[in-house]
Amino acid sequence: MLGRTLREVSTALKQGQITPTELCRKCLSLIQKTKFLNAYITVSEEVALKQAEESEKRYKKGQSLGDLDGIPIAVKDNFSTSGIETTCASNMLKGYIPPYNATVVQKLLDQGALLMGKTNLDEFAMGSGSTDGVFGPVKNPWSYSKQYREKQQQNPHGESEDSNWLITGGSSGGSAAAVSAFTCFAALGSDTGGSTRNPAAHCGLVGFKPSYGLVSRHGLIPLVNSMDVPGILTRYVDDTAIVLGILAGHDPKDSTTVQDPVKSFVLPNLIDVSKLCIGIPKEYLVPELSSEVRSLWSKAADLFESEGAKVIEVSLPHTCYSIVCYHILCTSEVASNMARFDGLEYGHRCDINVSTEAMYAATRREGFNDVVRGRILSGNFFLLKENYENYFIKAQKVRRLIANDFVNVFNSGVDVLLTPTTLREAVSYLEFIKEDNRTRSAQDDIFTQAVNMAGLPAVNVPMALSSQGLPIGLQFIGRAFCDQQLLSVAKWFEKQVQFPVIQLQQLMDDCSLSLENEKLASVSLKQQ
Ligand code: GLN
Repeated sequence: MLGRTLREVSTALKQGQITPTELCRKCLSLIQKTKFLNAYITVSEEVALKQAEESEKRYKKGQSLGDLDGIPIAVKDNFSTSGIETTCASNMLKGYIPPYNATVVQKLLDQGALLMGKTNLDEFAMGSGSTDGVFGPVKNPWSYSKQYREKQQQNPHGESEDSNWLITGGSSGGSAAAVSAFTCFAALGSDTGGSTRNPAAHCGLVGFKPSYGLVSRHGLIPLVNSMDVPGILTRYVDDTAIVLGILAGHDPKDSTTVQDPVKSFVLPNLIDVSKLCIGIPKEYLVPELSSEVRSLWSKAADLFESEGAKVIEVSLPHTCYSIVCYHILCTSEVASNMARFDGLEYGHRCDINVSTEAMYAATRREGFNDVVRGRILSGNFFLLKENYENYFIKAQKVRRLIANDFVNVFNSGVDVLLTPTTLREAVSYLEFIKEDNRTRSAQDDIFTQAVNMAGLPAVNVPMALSSQGLPIGLQFIGRAFCDQQLLSVAKWFEKQVQFPVIQLQQLMDDCSLSLENEKLASVSLKQQ
């Protein structure tokens, strides 16, 4: 049941093959068994069971609310959830209980979804590994796949098996691990520079970043307001379309959301690929790209071509500025966003009370990790009166050029761009932490950050397993507000490649194996 699509499960619920409470308990049991992944910060067991009970009543009366009624979902811990702790994986917000739900959370609950819990992330979503939160790193469920473990054993010169677990990518790694370990059917992530697509690629999932303005940000604790969007992680493209259909649309509480009514996101089973023009941006062929990702990328292009699509090389000439431009804009917005955490209104407050200034400083020193503090410092530097023109304003202009590159390509007739999502498959935790947070984000988000600066929709679709047995995904980028068309292309591609999405299901459900892994996981956690 857990590996099925949302529509299949919804049908099973309607036909009484399983009840919402049974489904909820199955997922809760898997959450327990896979605790070593560290995917959840808070498991909202009582809330979920209560919601399941309500849903059950509706099904009994034949009054189901739709495809999400009785379906377990998870939410990244940077979305406000009424009555449920929301921490952003930071000491600053530990113990903070919001009085309201983020609009997207409320919309899911209004459709009868069961909230299993809040998922782990990098502190305030700053990162690309889900390794930099105060609750510790998230482990990639694929670290425990049979094929990957066998490969590790065949490699006598490699690191010891105990330390070989892989990162999920990030910063929505908890949401990705939660879906990929079958503890829920869909999860909300957030995407400011790639944080939904990156972990989706590493965990073998569909990871969707909607057009900026299509989905409300109200209640998403901001990182970079001009780039943040709620993201969707699911196992199948159709599931993403269902969730998007629920989330999309104007929200009076978010003035940047679209005013026009949003059409449904039901995806056709078949599209005529021969009418499509697929663009391959030449600047994305960077030397750091692994040969396996590169060859899958070109295979994917061939696939479209063999079905009659026009596949052409295109140029996005300002791509090379995107990482540095993102860095300036991100840290500048961070510096101003984080000002609200001063120990007065909410969150952590230090014990020092000699002066207000001393209290602010100590609160912020204790509350934020060095990644957040570093970004606040950089941002304030870029915003200084003497630097503002040279950095912030210049970066805004470059951002416009980057966005125009996409507009030009789409105006020339390209429907969708096809690119890698990540440079390579997931790496081990020990490998990942050799670099600092800033360098890693610069490397890992190379194919994703420009999309946020342009506000476009983009989606990771898992394509195949690498020679190590690890997922590799590719990214499709669409025209602004052509999210439906983008997902239709993604669905076609998903059908062609047949990624082995349910390969991990038995493994995650196998208690004895999980216990063995728990031992293994605790050894490697102690090593940090
Ligand atoms: N890795 C990027 C950063 O740290 C993107 C984060 C995100 O999308 N939330 O800024």
